[in-house]
Amino acid sequence: MTRESEPYDVLVVGSANADLVIGVERRPGAGETVLGSDLATHPGGKGANQAVAAARLGARTGLVGRVGEDAHGRLLLDSLRAAGVDTAGVLVGGAPTGVAVITVDPSGDNSIVVSPGANARLSPGDIAAAGPLLARARVVSTQLEIPLDTVAALVDALPPDARLVLNPSPPAPLPDRVLAACDPLVVNEHEARFILGDAAGGTPEEWARGLLGLGPRSVVITLGAAGALAADGRTGEPVRVASPAVTAVDTTGAGDAFTAALAWRLGRGDDLAGATGFAVRVGAAAVTARGAQESYPTAERAVAL
Ligand code: ADP
Repeated sequence: MTRESEPYDVLVVGSANADLVIGVERRPGAGETVLGSDLATHPGGKGANQAVAAARLGARTGLVGRVGEDAHGRLLLDSLRAAGVDTAGVLVGGAPTGVAVITVDPSGDNSIVVSPGANARLSPGDIAAAGPLLARARVVSTQLEIPLDTVAALVDALPPDARLVLNPSPPAPLPDRVLAACDPLVVNEHEARFILGDAAGGTPEEWARGLLGLGPRSVVITLGAAGALAADGRTGEPVRVASPAVTAVDTTGAGDAFTAALAWRLGRGDDLAGATGFAVRVGAAAVTARGAQESYPTAERAVAL
């Protein structure tokens, strides 16, 4: 557990959800009921996933977020603490804990309904109140499963020496000052295309140049089994980083593990390409086992891949 005077290697500001998963033979149509498997309940949400991934790698990690005063909130707090995440910044109450209701059919296709719940109540005022935690952060990592106003307030409240890592997921139009603060902006292909719109070119290198043109100091684009591409606006051309070849079992939460690993290594002083080289190993390790948080590797396991 992180002591009050210690810096955070990674402070995550983001969502925590309970993932409620039911296997079905087929999805019900309107007005229809089908029977499914036993319910499986897993801790999830991009913020909690990133925090658990960073802590498992050995980073001193904290989470700023909000859960409900209910059984799902307790499940999330327990899993964060079990992973070694400091939960001093996790507020409790205001709405039920966020949930993702997920049905999975025999081909592995998902249908998901998300109720943001308490995540939607994480407010700009909550960010102001988290000032003492932000002051201890080397790297702050966030996503868009919390209100955009709250992300903008976070950008305004960042200490000058803290580095912001933003994964704009689920994608939404971003204010210029948020884009300009990202170092890096971390996107997958879908998010890159969303942000660039008609301006998207044909190759990841073109996407990276287009994204840098929107203001972030650096950009990392994840490319699934092909690894990632790192583009630092200060040092020149985009660099491709290959992923180790693995047998993918379940890609759920791989992007969150990747981003957490990247944030941790950047905070330790790696350059962007070096941190990306470590993050692809962590992302690849995360796809070799089922689930999201359950699949996250230690640093030793990621390096041994
Ligand atoms: P997202 O899950 O956000 O859509 P990606 O699919 O690009 O993002 O995956 C994120 C990272 O996870 C990749 O950069 C890579 O390191 C790893 N990864 C994902 N799928 C695979 C795969 N099939 N084999 C190896 N690594 C993978």
